Amino acid sequence: MRANVLKEVNKIGLEERPVPKAGPGEAVIKVTLTTICGTDIHIMKGEYPVKHGQIIGHEPIGVIHELGDGVADYELGERVAVNAITPCGHCEYCLSSTLAQCGGFLGGWKMGNTIDGSQADYVKIPNAAANLARIPDELTDEDVLLTTDIFSTGLSGAESADIKVGDTVAVFGQGPIGLSATAGAKLKGASLIIGVDSVASRMTMSQNMGADVVINFKESDPVKEIMDLTGGRGVDVAIEGIGLQETFSNCVKSTRVGGTISSLGVYPAELTHIGIPNQEFGFGIADKKIVSTLCPGGKERMRRLMDLVKNDKVNLKQLITHRFSLDEIEEAYELFASQGDGVIKVDIQP
Ligand SMILES: [Zn+2]
Ligand SMILES: [Zn+2]
Repeated sequence: MRANVLKEVNKIGLEERPVPKAGPGEAVIKVTLTTICGTDIHIMKGEYPVKHGQIIGHEPIGVIHELGDGVADYELGERVAVNAITPCGHCEYCLSSTLAQCGGFLGGWKMGNTIDGSQADYVKIPNAAANLARIPDELTDEDVLLTTDIFSTGLSGAESADIKVGDTVAVFGQGPIGLSATAGAKLKGASLIIGVDSVASRMTMSQNMGADVVINFKESDPVKEIMDLTGGRGVDVAIEGIGLQETFSNCVKSTRVGGTISSLGVYPAELTHIGIPNQEFGFGIADKKIVSTLCPGGKERMRRLMDLVKNDKVNLKQLITHRFSLDEIEEAYELFASQGDGVIKVDIQP
């Protein structure tokens, strides 16, 4: 089969690999659609460590090709979506509702991280009984593609912040994750949602996903604008959707006392440099909360996310701006990494 492999830092590309075999509790799916994540770009650049020679990618849609021993209640050929996070469902972390940290430190994220990933013709799914999510017949692969990671992640940023009906929310960064957080804030009942970005296509999409106001940080100071929009109080919740020192600091600065900073970005730099602004952090005693979240996974999460799509509570397909075949994956990485041509998310079709 064809598989996209991390060859070395800044070098990815297709290689011929054997089709994986399903062991006990595992399944192999034939991938019909996948995509590239911002995290894959961090991996390619060597900012997040993944071993060279591994197949990358963690967002598969496909049909069941093989079921390992002990995976009951599924049939070959069924259409399934699998989240980037594939928890076991029975360890102490899973049973404590921290599915993403299954087995310990970032342990729920296996595909394209610690085992071969989904940018390939076939992918092996661990803990298949907990992770194969049937796709409702009325939904296309494209309709649900982004439930496999970014929508689950973005929405979880709103959930972890415990957004209450009527809260004011600012989302820094309107890339795929930030846009999903914006949609999450709307679903959670925020009264005012402020998106922050500078790219025209993302600012427009921000409004489509639920932002009431979109601030261009290149034209004005977003912290000042947010303070003005909230009567000098600051927002109840600020969500960081990129993974930069500046946006994290701006989240602290624009959150009201007693408010919550919800961090979704993957930080490529040491967090000692992240810069928590002391005065706006109230010298440590302003009752501000900082929460961080990795994408919740598992098939029950996926069922809920796909139901939101099915019942028109969110339109994720509109974030897919470009379409590529698996053979064109290097070109797709180049476009996605450069953020050129108004790209938000790309389809990769094996
Ligand atoms: Zn991802
Ligand atoms: Zn577990």
